[in-house]
Amino acid sequence: MSGANATRRSVVLKSRPTGEPGAEHFAIREDAVPSPGPGEVVTRTIFLSIDPYMRGRLREQQTYAVAIQPGDVMIGETVGEVIASACPGLSPGDVVAGPRGWQSHCLAPGASLVKIDRAARAPLSAYLGVLGMPGTTAYAGVTEVMKPKAGETVVVSAASGAVGSVAGQIAKRAGARVVGVAGGADKCRFVTEALGFDACIDHRSATMAADLAAACPNGVDAYFENVGGAVQAAVFDLLNRHARVAMCGMVSQYNDAVFPPGPNLGFVVGKAVLIQGFIVSDRPARFAEWRAMAAPWVADGSLVFREDVVEGLENAPAALGGILTGRNFGKLLVRVGHDPG
Ligand code: NDP
Repeated sequence: MSGANATRRSVVLKSRPTGEPGAEHFAIREDAVPSPGPGEVVTRTIFLSIDPYMRGRLREQQTYAVAIQPGDVMIGETVGEVIASACPGLSPGDVVAGPRGWQSHCLAPGASLVKIDRAARAPLSAYLGVLGMPGTTAYAGVTEVMKPKAGETVVVSAASGAVGSVAGQIAKRAGARVVGVAGGADKCRFVTEALGFDACIDHRSATMAADLAAACPNGVDAYFENVGGAVQAAVFDLLNRHARVAMCGMVSQYNDAVFPPGPNLGFVVGKAVLIQGFIVSDRPARFAEWRAMAAPWVADGSLVFREDVVEGLENAPAALGGILTGRNFGKLLVRVGHDPG
């Protein structure tokens, strides 16, 4: 509750990491749970989302966002229960999703939050993954950039993860032949057997490039790029004329102090390849659109998703380190508090 006895725990940045972030770069700060001002609510966090973009916010230099400063609370999307409200339309007991940060309790303008419809029969955690920002990212990249057609070959990297798993399933719905790339036999098995991709290549194998070429005998018509590095080089070698590349992320380099030199893009001219970057937060309207489209698929089980839940707010820093190196298996979440049911 938001009474005088309640304590809020927040994870704040202590020092900027070089390389993999971990517990040593963060501190736990405790203070009193605040009271809401006009238009605000206080929420009790149930789930916190851990996402690769968070590593970028720890850098001094930013490309499209604002850097976290030492002493700042780490940013992140949460699902939480409203425990106090001074916002019309939101009441204690409502469950909401929004960009609130690594905290046990969050003070937020009610207008920044999305009220979750529990009748939709999706678990609360899904609003941070398959029905949330990562799912919307997949939807935007596939429908705006890749635009797969029936019979085309699509490759998706980080295929077992939050974004890749959804991107591949959307491309399958469009009738494409979908080849995933993932790290290790267990993840590859999940991608083909549970997600229904046509093939999945292990990027940790010494024969990754040859395996990918064998899995794409007709070349690659569209690529959903999540990782960069050696996987990107192998896929680029296979791109067909008029191929489309949705540049979603390059997680293989997020821990690097200096980014590696880029590939030679001469082939883009001759093959008339489209390479387009995109940021999901530039597309606010697509979140509700995707949620409405995908919620029935989640409810009927036809859109498959996997979650990797870490227990306890204090374990969020180590979880962030893990998502950058593939220790997660599925959408990475931290359980901070109980689901009121
Ligand atoms: P995931 O759940 O896919 O987790 C990241 C995965 O990346 C790891 O599990 C690991 O899977 C893979 N990975 C890590 N290092 C490497 C490497 N060196 N080579 C190949 N794969 C590697 O994360 P998300 O689904 O949340 O994010 C996927 C991508 O989407 C990221 O690049 C992220 O930044 C981007 N993104 C972009 C957005 C946008 O608006 N443009 C919005 C949201 C996400 P494995 O074990 O299979 O290697």
